[in-house]
Amino acid sequence: MMFDLAIKNGLVYKKGEFFKANVYVKDEKISAISSQEFDSKEEYDASGKWVLPGFIDPHVHFHLTVASWTSVDDFYTGSVSAAFGGVTTFIDFIDPVSNLKELDRAFKERMELAKDSVVDYALHSTIANPTDPAEEIAKRSKELGMASIKLFTTYSSTNRRTFDPYIDDLLALSRSMGFVVVVHAENDEIIKRFEGKDVLPKDHSKARPTIAELSEVIKLAQISSYREGQLYIVHTSSGLTAKEVLERFPDALGYTLVLESCPHYFYLDDLYFAKENGQLFLMTPPLRSEEEVELLRENFDAIYTIGTDHCSFKKDEKLSGKYTREIPQGIGGVEFSFVLMYTLFGEEVIDKFTENIAKVYGMYPEKGVIEIGSDADIVIFDPKKEWVIKEHHSASDYNVYEGFEVKGKVISTISRGEFVVKDGEFVGKKGRGKYIKREEIYW
Ligand SMILES: [Zn+2]
Repeated sequence: MMFDLAIKNGLVYKKGEFFKANVYVKDEKISAISSQEFDSKEEYDASGKWVLPGFIDPHVHFHLTVASWTSVDDFYTGSVSAAFGGVTTFIDFIDPVSNLKELDRAFKERMELAKDSVVDYALHSTIANPTDPAEEIAKRSKELGMASIKLFTTYSSTNRRTFDPYIDDLLALSRSMGFVVVVHAENDEIIKRFEGKDVLPKDHSKARPTIAELSEVIKLAQISSYREGQLYIVHTSSGLTAKEVLERFPDALGYTLVLESCPHYFYLDDLYFAKENGQLFLMTPPLRSEEEVELLRENFDAIYTIGTDHCSFKKDEKLSGKYTREIPQGIGGVEFSFVLMYTLFGEEVIDKFTENIAKVYGMYPEKGVIEIGSDADIVIFDPKKEWVIKEHHSASDYNVYEGFEVKGKVISTISRGEFVVKDGEFVGKKGRGKYIKREEIYW
């Protein structure tokens, strides 16, 4: 038999271990992992490199319109940037909907935008104070391949908040119906104290304090534990949240509760907001204090997945506002997520970018592992290379991580057996990415 691609002599990652082997690809799938030599149409020498499963970013916002702004990375530029970061699958969100009719429409609209993607993608369903029953929303979301439903516990002023009775309904249904309840958790009552007021970026973390996240997460963790639900908390920003969850719900983690966090909460503290041009760093939930960043690093075990919440804007747009409500929220990061986290924690981050996400979001074992039969999504990674972040491939004109010294570099990215980045050069094609349907998820 003739294989399509052979990745030779690399150190292949599998279940926390590395071993030297050749990986053979046929018809977009991994079809042999062996120390033997087989014939192949194309060969790639990975000597001295790691051969990792393609990374999955479970949280990006490409072409997201909020208020009068639209994030600048569309599905093409965003996915190119992702590919340079070793990301072979990402999950975006449909616009928030409150009933079944809107759900179908929002899905269609997002799919139309997403078809430009270079790598594979999935979508989260997104709801905002729904009027149709939880069971129907969940059923339809699953049929569309979105067995993960995102909601906000805040933003009631713009009618995006979903209230506790509905969340309780969803959590009670989630395990039996096979879907995940994905939550942006901040205590709306606490947030409302400053909502609509003149808040400067330097006060952003005071207006949306740690206790707003902590109190909401603890409450939801309790409900999920009681209902045996499948609860996924996005963008955990506070080290205290991670610590308290680890102490109070040790058995829940990975079963009724998963915490996601993002690289910026491990690298940046709220003093960045106080800098000149602090607007450039603005995102929600906000950056926390230096102590909290330290605490988050110390409680890394509580964090099961890393997403970026990639939502980039241009400098001008960020700098044109003075108060937080006049500034579009969000920063880029999909391209540097893995190397940033690898620099801090080494190889223990790999599962949090691959297998954990695939399992939690219903893409396992097609994605997230190097196994026979899995999609040939592969990253060739140089674990020793030390470098300084400079160029990026996002459509934005700045990068908050510029000048950061990191360790480890993505050399090549392979999506379903095809190079999209090869030895640092983009070789992918617009629109070759495929929609990944996720109809059932059981933790
Ligand atoms: Zn987000």
